[in-house]
Amino acid sequence: MEKTVTLNDRTFKVMIPAEKIDRAVAAVAQRINADYGDKERPLFVGVLNGAFMFMSDLIKKIDFNCEISFVKLASYAGTESTGNVECLVGLNNDIAGRHVIIVEDIVDTGRSIAHMYTDLQRRNPASIEVCTLFFKPDSYSERLPIRYRALEIGNEFIVGYGLDYDQLGRNLKDIYVVTE
Ligand code: 5GP
Ligand code: MG
Repeated sequence: MEKTVTLNDRTFKVMIPAEKIDRAVAAVAQRINADYGDKERPLFVGVLNGAFMFMSDLIKKIDFNCEISFVKLASYAGTESTGNVECLVGLNNDIAGRHVIIVEDIVDTGRSIAHMYTDLQRRNPASIEVCTLFFKPDSYSERLPIRYRALEIGNEFIVGYGLDYDQLGRNLKDIYVVTE
């Protein structure tokens, strides 16, 4: 029988089992270990809430000395007619001269990550790269290169492993996709 879960008004079915997520996290961690092993105290910056579970599993597979921190993206009413823009809350670390790896749950259009990248770049880090658990190539419309992508998916809406539907489903260990 197919494993399903109901969150509010929608039903979701398993799309990616936990074992496959774990293998993808291990593969991306291995690449980061190879690239950053000789760098001075790289800083992993996780984006809350969605990236908490990915960050936790990823960081356990990192084999060099590093720091971790978390930020939240908050929207505020801009003075421009373009509407809301996101700003960073909670990054207390001085990142000047540091190697920063942003850890995201999912990059869709890329709008959120582009805002965050610009904000961090202003603080003069030695380097910034993005590590995302999920990447939606058909939806991505920014120029910023996303160096580490654990898994690529189509334009479907997914939940589980930190990702939510109306704040529910973050606790699920598999990834689920909405049924029609
Ligand atoms: P972007 O700014 O890249 O378009 O969107 C990124 C944010 O949209 C993600 O951090 C996430 O909060 C939300 N998002 C995009 N696609 C999905 C999805 O398939 N499932 C869930 N739960 N959230 C998504
Ligand atoms: Mg996110």
